[in-house]
Amino acid sequence: MLARIAPFHTNVLVVGPTRTADDRAFLEGYAVDVAEQTGTVATYALHNDYSVTDFDAVYVVGTATKLRDANGLVLIAEALVAGMPVYDSANPQEAGHCVCGLGQNVQPLRDERGDIQCFECAGLTLGCAHCGEYSDVEELEIVKRGNTFSPVHSTCIAEARKAHPRAKIVTV
Ligand SMILES: [Zn+2]
Ligand SMILES: [Zn+2]
Repeated sequence: MLARIAPFHTNVLVVGPTRTADDRAFLEGYAVDVAEQTGTVATYALHNDYSVTDFDAVYVVGTATKLRDANGLVLIAEALVAGMPVYDSANPQEAGHCVCGLGQNVQPLRDERGDIQCFECAGLTLGCAHCGEYSDVEELEIVKRGNTFSPVHSTCIAEARKAHPRAKIVTV
């Protein structure tokens, strides 16, 4: 039983400040963390031209109430109106490691003893975005396509590279 119940999500939108190049780089890095730590396909928003209801949840760099970025605010407002979960960044004191070794700083979940349990160990991840098979997070790599990061098995990536030698499959 988790103290902080997290519903199962597969496809999330990551919003945050986008004004400066540093802001955008941080947002992109946070989206990688979200994909890695929550086992979801994570897309970061550089504009507000998204249909938020195409996603299951919104992750915010910082907190939704303090965000001053106009694009992000529009998306958060739409998500709230649609009744979607909106997750602020955890504060640094909440971060830590699961017993499996995976670091958790995006949305650390805790079991009834107060120990951090990662999404993978809690059974809340979709597994591989390519084949849909469940796997240890350690065996998944994060594939970048445009503004979207997806957890995919190393073996699935190797197969895809063999099948499509000219396709550029970028991992982070
Ligand atoms: Zn774990
Ligand atoms: Zn796979």
